[in-house]
Amino acid sequence: MLSQVTEIPQYKMNKQYLSRTWANPKLKAEKSKIHGDGVFTNERILEGEKVMEFGGELISREQALSGKYRSRSIWIVGADRYLALPKSDNQESLDENLNHSCDANTRLIDEVTIVAKRDIEAGGEITLDQGTWNFEDIAYTDNKEPCSCGAKDCRKILTENDWKISSVREKYKGHFHPMIQKMIDVGA
Ligand SMILES: [Zn+2]
Repeated sequence: MLSQVTEIPQYKMNKQYLSRTWANPKLKAEKSKIHGDGVFTNERILEGEKVMEFGGELISREQALSGKYRSRSIWIVGADRYLALPKSDNQESLDENLNHSCDANTRLIDEVTIVAKRDIEAGGEITLDQGTWNFEDIAYTDNKEPCSCGAKDCRKILTENDWKISSVREKYKGHFHPMIQKMIDVGA
C-alpha cells in the first residue's frame, strides 16, 4: 500500500539515508576558480530545484576520525552520526567537489538535502556556505581557512563559528543544518 509522505521529522533516529550521494543529473565536476575541482551545471537550475542529497555509510564520530573514510565525503547528520564513503570505495562522488562560497547559490532544507537558493545558469558553479553546516572544530572541516570565493561580502577567513555571524544568520535564515538550527533556537 502506498502511503503519502508528508513531513519527515529531521531527527527520526531510524531515518534511511542514501548509500551514496544523489546528484542532479545536470551536474558535473570541472576545474574551479574557487578551489581545485568544483561542481558545475550543464543546464539552468531553477530556484528550489533539488541539487544534491548527501549519502554514505552511516558511521560514528570515532569512525569518521579513524582515517578509514574519504575525508571530503564525511558529512554530519546528527549527534555522533555521520555519512561517509570508505577509502576502499574508489567511485567518484560529486559532493566531494562541492566548494564553499560566502554567497552560496544552494542551501540546506534538511540535514542532507541542498536545493538552489536562486536560479543558476548553465556553466555556473554550485556552492554551499560552510557557515550553514560547519560547527565542529574537527579534522575534516576547513577551520581558520582563508577564503577565495570572490563574493562581494566574502568573509575572508572561514571558521566553525561563522553560523554565529548575524549577516550569515540573516542570509540563510531557516536553512541551517538542523543541529545548528537547534543551537540557534536555544539562543546560542
Ligand atoms: Zn568567501
